[in-house]
Amino acid sequence: MIKQALISVSDKTGILDFAKELSALGVNILSTGGTAKLLADNGIKVTEVADYTGFPEMLDGRVKTLHPKVHGGILARRDFPEHVAALAQHQIPLIDMVVVNLYPFQQTIAKEQCSLEDAIENIDIGGPAMLRSSAKNHKDVIVLCDPSDYAGVLAELKAHDGEVGYGTKFALAKKVFAHTAQYDGAITNYFTSLGEDKQHATRSAYPETLNLHFEKVQEMRYGENPHQSAAFYRDTRHVEGALANYKQLQGKELSYNNIADADAAWECVKTFSETACVIIKHANPCGAAIGNNPLEAYSKALQTDPTSAFGGIIAFNQELDGNAAEAVAKQFVEVIIAPSFTEQAKQVFAAKQNVRLLEIPLAHNINLHDFKRVGGGLLVQSPDARNVALSELKVVSKKQPTQQQLQDLMFAWRVAKFVKSNAIVFCGNGMTLGVGAGQMSRVDSARIASIKAQNAGLSLVGSAVASDAFFPFRDGLDVVVDAGATCVVQPGGSMRDQEVIDAADEHGVVMLLTGTRHFRH
Ligand code: 5GP
Repeated sequence: MIKQALISVSDKTGILDFAKELSALGVNILSTGGTAKLLADNGIKVTEVADYTGFPEMLDGRVKTLHPKVHGGILARRDFPEHVAALAQHQIPLIDMVVVNLYPFQQTIAKEQCSLEDAIENIDIGGPAMLRSSAKNHKDVIVLCDPSDYAGVLAELKAHDGEVGYGTKFALAKKVFAHTAQYDGAITNYFTSLGEDKQHATRSAYPETLNLHFEKVQEMRYGENPHQSAAFYRDTRHVEGALANYKQLQGKELSYNNIADADAAWECVKTFSETACVIIKHANPCGAAIGNNPLEAYSKALQTDPTSAFGGIIAFNQELDGNAAEAVAKQFVEVIIAPSFTEQAKQVFAAKQNVRLLEIPLAHNINLHDFKRVGGGLLVQSPDARNVALSELKVVSKKQPTQQQLQDLMFAWRVAKFVKSNAIVFCGNGMTLGVGAGQMSRVDSARIASIKAQNAGLSLVGSAVASDAFFPFRDGLDVVVDAGATCVVQPGGSMRDQEVIDAADEHGVVMLLTGTRHFRH
């Protein structure tokens, strides 16, 4: 039966209810200045740590709980007679529960105007010390650093005569060590990001050392290939709408390749404001389309390359309804992603339990950093978050685009961003007609894209083409125009831009420049 708890929290969420219930269970509550005042003001019986230790809080709160009467009460081993005797000798009562969350360091430094001084004052000292003391002695001390754990612990205390099982105590301690590691990591990142003029904290997004914190979501049976082991980790800074926060409604466990492809599908489909469907195979869109409803979008996307779509990953940016579900269920599909699924859609897939259904809320946040592992190191960059607006396109050909061509080019450009370089994407009528991906030469991507359209029985006459980077020579352009394209969008910026623009004029086709490149490797 726990007798005494110490509560010292910056984030006061849920603390009143929790403390009230502890008090009702007969637990004696010790608390620091601000927390004690809040509890007392709300009629909860509380002893201030300063009264308990006989030392006032000092040095603007830098020293509040750093006292043997606090740490002795936490750290003493209950099963060591010498420890018990030492506490008796110094009149130190046991502390059986510690509820602490830390000064908001990360929120403080997130503010634009934060000075080094502000940051330093928001480095918690006594809080982490108590968290570590109790986590170290978790066999006998219940430690809570997250308000979302209050309810569960209370329920367990009530159900088991004021005791909590070892499994729970260990899990809480594990959480604490992860939490303090993350806290120290944030401090390290901040300190190593400061420029020469430390007082005026000109900060770089890339600190000298990088402390990253990811938590395991799952282990996979294997990685990209069966002889590789693998696990999936989620950024501890929750990114709303990101793949890692998926909810799986049914289906087999996600594999390594499923997750990688699902991410590409989800990120691509999210860029459309119209109802859209994207089908991914081996990280490349093998079909993408917009439509009046999910069924239409899917049917169009499938037409691009029905052969490759077999066993693909399909993403929708809108609730998947029964009609679309029935159509999708006819093909072999590994994963389906949507912000939600109607009851009807769920019923359609109930008969196909192997199909993985992932629900992810549609939010447009993006990762803070993109990473790529290289031998012995890590490349870090900001994500490719740029979406070129129609108003940014510059017509460089003599021929002016029609409204329809502009729409098709915008669509093609959006898809090209998600195709591995070198990317050439033929589109028309809100759907991809041919996708050339991942070739070492742009002209080969152009050839492949047109061959694929031919194989799928799609006409490229009057189509729009996007190229993810500039045409280094006119040959790539010649290929797409020969195939039937009448308008082309590309970033521009080549030494031979003029040669390429002249070729467009020679062919009598429209050419627009985006000024933005979307390499994707
Ligand atoms: P309160 O609002 O109760 O005055 O302060 C609560 C905060 O003080 C908690 O975030 C806790 O981690 C922190 N804290 C508790 N003891 C100490 C200490 O001795 N030194 C410092 N710097 N912070 C402490």
